[in-house]
This record gives sequence, structure tokens and C-alpha cells, in this order.
Amino acid sequence: MSHVFPRHTKAKLPVASHGDGAYIVDSDGKRYLDACGGAAVSCLGHSDAAVTDAVRSQMDSIAFAHTGFFTSPPAEALAEKLIALAPGDLDRVYFVSGGSEAVEASLKLARQYFVEIGQPQRKHIIARWQSYHGNTLGALAAGGNRWRRAQFEPLLVDMAHIDPCFVYRGQEEGESEFDYGQRVANQLETEIQRLGVDSVAAFVAEPVVGATLGAVPAVEGYFKRIREICDQYGVLLILDEVMCGMGRTGTLFACDHDGVAPDILCIAKGLGAGYQPIGAMLCTGAIYDAIEQGSGLFQHGHTYIGHPAACAAGGAVLTRLIDDGLVERVTPLGEALHTRLEARFGQHPHVGDIRGRGLFRGLELVKDRETKTPFDPGHKLHAKVKQAAMNEGLMCYPMGGTLDGQRGDHILLAPPFILEDAQLDEITDKLDRAVTTALAQAG
Ligand code: PLP
Repeated sequence: MSHVFPRHTKAKLPVASHGDGAYIVDSDGKRYLDACGGAAVSCLGHSDAAVTDAVRSQMDSIAFAHTGFFTSPPAEALAEKLIALAPGDLDRVYFVSGGSEAVEASLKLARQYFVEIGQPQRKHIIARWQSYHGNTLGALAAGGNRWRRAQFEPLLVDMAHIDPCFVYRGQEEGESEFDYGQRVANQLETEIQRLGVDSVAAFVAEPVVGATLGAVPAVEGYFKRIREICDQYGVLLILDEVMCGMGRTGTLFACDHDGVAPDILCIAKGLGAGYQPIGAMLCTGAIYDAIEQGSGLFQHGHTYIGHPAACAAGGAVLTRLIDDGLVERVTPLGEALHTRLEARFGQHPHVGDIRGRGLFRGLELVKDRETKTPFDPGHKLHAKVKQAAMNEGLMCYPMGGTLDGQRGDHILLAPPFILEDAQLDEITDKLDRAVTTALAQAG
């Protein structure tokens, strides 16, 4: 009997034995092509010797030195590299152990910043429906996934939410994509005015929505308008690139594509690429200076922040991504994947939308393509796709639709940047069979 508490307590999971490039091999020798990186984590696949060597070498010097007492060479080096590559005025890096921690830190930093500069009335956070920012209570309160929030609502602090930029379901008849983007971005201004023009601390959003919607980028102009509104009302812009950052969408930071720089940026997943648990919050010099010249203490922290072995992994991952040119592979590979998905599923009666950017792609499954009617969530079609894909030897990341019909089940793909051409065909072939099996099971 296992004493591990799994996420899905009724699931019988295979045992991961070892990694081999883009594959995970289980204890029976079955190979699974990892087309989702777990949850957009494993951007380098599962046997990158450069990263494991860097971690091993750091472990040989020192594994852990608490940041209340020491900084460390790998943390300093990684922060310097990230800042050199980061957009806008981002100037300081606060290391954490994962995505939720990065988001929690960003919300608290935004609040503390305004306290430090004498604007304590700025207390509201605005986020978006159908976003995901993590499972800790602050991040969950910012998140807009109603299913994830439902049973914990009594514990969540009050945060405001506006609509996402979700062109497939939001664009109105006769409206251009650009106009749609401006319309939903302007909801931020309306919400700031409703809450009080000098009472909002921050707006938080994913540049490309991952877990909840399945690789939905904003339309052109949306984030530029969001940035304008934040500037006009003195609201900090927090971008959550925990899933879509670190090259996943073709640029190192997803917001590079939108031509917009945030005040605070959250990254994780691809930063450690699964070799170590690490995340980071980057902030502007102005925010950092306000704390330094004020109380001198960011009132936050976790035991493992700046863990040297994790930072060594992050440094080696960045070298692979930038110096070894792996990020450059993402756009062409992503387009090749998209072309194959279009060829296979473009006319499929139950695939309503094929979307995404770079190696971050999503398919939305619907009962009816014309009306975009989702399947009954009770069918748990997404879970059937996941299981059927695992039976085929393919890892993909499906998520369920909503009872209110706001979206259908979707399948998220986030394969490693080391992918070979033949593996693109393997993904589409196996996914096709898995979707057919799951649809048959769902009746
Ligand atoms: N933010 C986004 C956009 C995410 O996709 C996730 C995880 O999927 C998180 C935050 C939370 O990250 P973690 O699971 O590492 O805490």
C-alpha cells in the first residue's frame, strides 16, 4: 500500500522510473511522450545533463544557506542573468520555490509598496475570471477559476475580477479582434473607477492563459491598453508568467510579444524545468527602492527562498535556453505543431478551437462546432482524454469545462523545446486516437 497522498486519490498511477529526452519511462518500461511538460514545466525534457551536472556540482559545494544569513553565487548569477534579459525596468529578483509562492509574494509586495510610499488606501487587487494563479489562498483568491475556488470561497480574501481576453468565446458578431481586446481591457478602467480611483494596488493577469483556458493569448493591443490604464491610475501591473514564461511562447518572456513590461513579473515552472523547484518574482527598481528607503524589510519570506541548488538549476536552464539557442526553436516548432493540429483536427466536428503561441497550444472540445456548445461537464471528457492518451503513451494536460457553459473541455499541449520533427507526428497521431476513444466513451 502507498502512503503517498496523491492529488487524484482514486487514480492508479504508473511509477516513473527514468527520463529519456522527451519521454518518461515507467517501471514496466512503457514510454510516454511528454507533450505537456507535466504542466508546462519540462521545457528541456527529462535528461538534460548540463542541468543535472550544475545541480550536482552546487550540492558538492553547499546545498543550503538560509537567505537570512547569506546570499550565494548561483542566486547572484541567476538574478543578474534574468535582469539582463528581462523587459522594461525590472531590476530585482526575489527567488521562491514555485509559482504560487511567486504570486503570493507579488500581491504582498504590491500592497507593501503602497504602504511604504504613503498610499495605504490602495488595497484592492483586480484579476480576471478564468485565470489561474496558484492554489495557496492568496493566489486562489486572485485566480478566476470558479471550480477551483468554490469550496474554499469562505477562506478567500475579497478581490475584484474582470473578464478575460478570450476571443473564441468573447468576440461579438461584427466586432474586430482589436476592438474586442480594447473593449475587455477597458473593463479594467471601469472596475478601478467602481472601486475608487486611488484605492487599487495592482492588476494581475497571465499574458497567455494556461491551465484554466488552455493556451489563450490576448489579442493584439489588449495588454498595451491594460498598461495605459494601469499607468493612468497608478496601478501596478503584475504579469503571471509562471506557465507561459521562460520561452514557452517563443520569446523568453511572454509579454515581450505584447511589447509591454510589467512592474512585477512572476515566473516558475520552466525556470527550473523540473530539475529543481524554483520560481521568482522580478520587480522594478522603483518598487525595490521604496522598500529599501522605507522600512528596509519586505515583510514576507519562506525557508527555501534562494535555495542554492535550485538557483544553480535555474542558471543552467537559462544557459540552455539562451546560449544553446533552445528558445529559438520554439516558434518554428510551435508553428509546425499548429499546422499538424489544424490538418488533423481543423475540420473535426468536436474541436471548436485550436489556439496558442509557440510550444503552448490548446484545443477546445465542444459538442457542437457551430454553436460552440460545450459537452456536459458531467461526462468529464477531459479526464477520459487524459487516460486514453496515457494508454497511448502520451502525456497531455486536459481540463474540464464549466457548468455555466463559459468554456468547453480543453487539451493543453506544452512539449519540450528539444522536440524532433517525428515527435510532432507522434503527438498528433496519439492525440487523435485518444480523442476518438474518449468521445466514444462519453457517448
Ligand atoms: N500561476 C500560473 C499561471 C500557473 O499556471 C500556476 C500553476 O499551474 C501557478 C501560478 C502556480 O504555480 P505552482 O503550481 O508552482 O504553485
